[in-house]
Amino acid sequence: MLKYELIPAQLLHEGTITQENLFAPVPLAEVDIINTHDVAYWLQLKNLTLPAREQRRIGFPLSSQLVEREVRIAQGTIDGAKYAQQFGVAFNVAGGTHHAGSNWGEGFCLLNDQAIAANYLLNNVLSKRILIIDLDVHQGNGTAEIFQNERRVFTFSMHGDKNFPFRKEVSDLDIPLEDGTDDDTFLNKLSDALTFVFEKHQPDFVFYLAGVDVLESDKLGKLALSKNACKQRDLMVFEACLKHQVPVQISMGGGYSADIKVIVDAHCNTFRLAADLYT
Ligand SMILES: [Zn+2]
Repeated sequence: MLKYELIPAQLLHEGTITQENLFAPVPLAEVDIINTHDVAYWLQLKNLTLPAREQRRIGFPLSSQLVEREVRIAQGTIDGAKYAQQFGVAFNVAGGTHHAGSNWGEGFCLLNDQAIAANYLLNNVLSKRILIIDLDVHQGNGTAEIFQNERRVFTFSMHGDKNFPFRKEVSDLDIPLEDGTDDDTFLNKLSDALTFVFEKHQPDFVFYLAGVDVLESDKLGKLALSKNACKQRDLMVFEACLKHQVPVQISMGGGYSADIKVIVDAHCNTFRLAADLYT
């Protein structure tokens, strides 16, 4: 997708980041894939033998380039998590593939990058208690399923109730939103939820999925958030992480406004805010 090239280009152009802030991930080790996804599913991806019906659920035909791309993106989220532990915050300019479950791909997601990185941190004793804050407009169903029996990972998803995926999984905290939810309603619910989840789970690491498909201009979102409220949303998450001194890795997630400039600008706002708050 074009936005993944435009976001870093814009951030470099305006001086929010420099080349030294960028890194290029290598492909993920297989062990890190199968710690999150079923071996049989991974082999079907790797060997391009996923049945046609399951490919349709993903939304595009499987290819080795696509698999290679997702394998790098997920490593980018692991690397980002480690950078976040060092610097407080780190981003993946892609990622947020939260519809991928332990044995399925769905909604343009093959492998679940933040779930893979969360398991990496746990397995390498780099974290004991993880909070996943998923504010993409679509429910983080894959993430919820992957961690349904993992008490060390708290999954929080705030999403359009009547939006994709239509069969939702159960997160540790789900906040379903009505179509047309406005700025104040969204931000008030988020503020209460953040207070609750940080107190309840006491995380030592946060993954944040900052999809900008919550915007009113979004073709798929069905909510009615202004760009400013989207920025306020990010600010609330960063302030909560800073207050509790918890590092945060951010993946981009969705954004489907008709004007690509709106999408890129809204995603860049998340980076700009972090650059202001963490320096
Ligand atoms: Zn989405």
